[in-house]
Amino acid sequence: MKLRDLAYYRTGGRCHALYEPKSIDDLSRIVKALHATQQKYFVLGGGTNSLVLDEDWPGAVIAFRRMKKIEVQGHRIYAEAGADNTDVAKAALEAKLDGVAWMHRLPGQIGGTVRMNARCYGGEISQVAKEVHTVLPDGTIRVYSAAEGIFRGYKDTLFMDNGAIVAAAVLELQDGVRGSIETRMQFYEQDRVKKGQFLYPTCGCVFKNDYKVGVPSGMLLDKAGAHKLSRPEVALNPQHANFVYNKGTGSRDILELTLAMRELVYREYGVWMEYEMEILGDLPSDLKARVEEKRPAQPQMEKLEPLRALFQKKQTSGS
Ligand SMILES: Cc1cc2nc3c(=O)[nH]c(=O)nc-3n(C[C@H](O)[C@H](O)[C@H](O)COP(=O)(O)OP(=O)(O)OC[C@H]3O[C@@H](n4cnc5c(N)ncnc54)[C@H](O)[C@@H]3O)c2cc1C
Repeated sequence: MKLRDLAYYRTGGRCHALYEPKSIDDLSRIVKALHATQQKYFVLGGGTNSLVLDEDWPGAVIAFRRMKKIEVQGHRIYAEAGADNTDVAKAALEAKLDGVAWMHRLPGQIGGTVRMNARCYGGEISQVAKEVHTVLPDGTIRVYSAAEGIFRGYKDTLFMDNGAIVAAAVLELQDGVRGSIETRMQFYEQDRVKKGQFLYPTCGCVFKNDYKVGVPSGMLLDKAGAHKLSRPEVALNPQHANFVYNKGTGSRDILELTLAMRELVYREYGVWMEYEMEILGDLPSDLKARVEEKRPAQPQMEKLEPLRALFQKKQTSGS
């Protein structure tokens, strides 16, 4: 199977083997076997924050189409890794539970959302995930409590380092009022539609924000004139310069565009943006060196200050 059929961004070559576990025990067995034979693998959730490379992948891929169970237990929701964020938000609505309305129409699955500590509209998965059921790289099952410091801050979790695969998460919610939850869900959906987020495949934000800089990466890109880098087959979202649309091309073109975006912002503002988009597969060596390059920050304060002021003004006015 071509991975592009599973990946939201519509890129990806063939993989050596595809595993689609049915349960955490099944996942544990698969990972134990891969570990024993030292076969490399990567995990693919919805692929909504990832770029799967078009080069064929000699390893295995683990995907979660068969682990989508969502169970409401009192104030808690148990969601398997493959449960779609929107389905979790809808299940909470049906049970009149508040705390995950922000996840409505956030593309992706609970497993990827936990690993990325995804956030939007004032919500973050770390605020509600109380327990995370995982499978460690040797295949052992390990349940983490949120109190063990698994969520380390903005787009940062322990699972990015220890290679644990999220099999399920237990979310703790509060009683809510159906009408109020539904109104917010509708607002989030309309806002994303209005911002053109669903017009073409994307992976959300390509670059993280650097809070020390005080200007979001999207604004840096916009003001640096990154829109002029768009081409017919791969283009920046006109309303959000940190989102790159795939209009019918492959992973190399997308990567080249993002490299040019990062270069432009560095030249203009001295800010070296860090990738949020996860790259899945083996990067060809020429691209690897360029993607992994690090440059020292050389913030050009006289250019950044007016942007900071503009961003703060926008935030206060809510625009
Ligand atoms: C239109 C659009 C809008 C977006 N808006 C936002 C937003 O507002 N806020 C935000 O935070 N994000 C946003 N994103 C990014 C994305 O929706 C989230 O990061 C989402 O949580 C990713 O989930 P996923 O299952 O698609 O992860 P994937 O892209 O499949 O995976 C991301 C990473 O996690 C790993 N992974 C996947 N599943 C698991 C698992 N079960 N266990 C361990 N590791 C795993 C993958 O190997 C990869 O490294 C947006 C994306 C799109 C396309």
